[in-house]
Amino acid sequence: MLGDVEWKTEMLDDIDDTGMGRTHTALARIRLAEKTLSGQMSKNVIHNTFIHELVHAILDNVGRPDLSDNEAFVEPFANFLKQALATMKYRDVKN
Ligand SMILES: [Zn+2]
Repeated sequence: MLGDVEWKTEMLDDIDDTGMGRTHTALARIRLAEKTLSGQMSKNVIHNTFIHELVHAILDNVGRPDLSDNEAFVEPFANFLKQALATMKYRDVKN
């Protein structure tokens, strides 16, 4: 869910010649390529692409298309988010 909208992720054989992922905000879809012209995508690359597209989707939905259109912002943000999600430890702290 993003906001009150259920989003779906679709795996496609390929998206276009070079694309690895696309966010379609109007359709509430993230589309991920399983391969490109350079070959089969690894699970790690597909996961990185998903996080990247998720950042686009969130920015589009919070009314910041200016940031979503800025790949120089989206890519490092996605990398930091992926690292944090992969390494964080969270536990309930009782007061
Ligand atoms: Zn992008």
